[in-house]
Amino acid sequence: MPDHANQTIVIATRNQGKVREMRALFRQHLPRVKDITLACLADFPAAPLIEETGRTFHENARIKALAGANLTGGLTIGDDSGLEVDALHGAPGVCSARYAGPHARDAENNLKLLAALRDVPPDQRAARFVCVIAVALPDNVLGLFEGVCHGVIGSEPRGTNGFGYDPLFVKTDYGKTFAELSSSVKNRMSHRALAFAKAAVIVERYLESMRAAATAGRA
Ligand code: IMP
Repeated sequence: MPDHANQTIVIATRNQGKVREMRALFRQHLPRVKDITLACLADFPAAPLIEETGRTFHENARIKALAGANLTGGLTIGDDSGLEVDALHGAPGVCSARYAGPHARDAENNLKLLAALRDVPPDQRAARFVCVIAVALPDNVLGLFEGVCHGVIGSEPRGTNGFGYDPLFVKTDYGKTFAELSSSVKNRMSHRALAFAKAAVIVERYLESMRAAATAGRA
């Protein structure tokens, strides 16, 4: 097991939008995490691409967390998330990242979504973001946690914050898209924030057990 296995928590993604949000969520929910190094897959250049072969957010979150934990030997957070649009029978769903093609950019996915909803009136554009976070050690998933955030799909992109479908996702109670809200507001009620708040309990328990083991080792 590498030296850093007990001091580093790995976020099993290369998506920098997710990494930014996760770092903020760690600070928000686990203030004592400042003693821990947070890494992501970009910090492991030799890490192979993780194939998202699951058919559900739960399956893919589990696949990502286990792959990351088995690669690094340390506690790993796997996030699988996406947008489900009622008028599209739940699409793009687990294919959200690759809706417009295997290497599609956010702007291409957003354009495809707007085209698919061109004839759909405002009152039928309900959608939700879903996030499942898996927490794993090598060969051992400690827990899976889901968060859901409801909104509607706007008729044009608005705002510059965030990533992915944020410029199209209108949080109706705020009258703004996620991309128009500050990251601190998004991080209070997003699908990722809701899933993370539950996952934080397991992460905290793991950190406590590491501290107890280190203290016992020094005694
Ligand atoms: P994956 O979980 O890596 O398969 O990718 C999830 C995809 O869903 C992202 O690439 C985005 O397109 C979309 N997505 C997930 N969460 C968010 C979010 O918070 N804002 C905007 N788009 C998101």
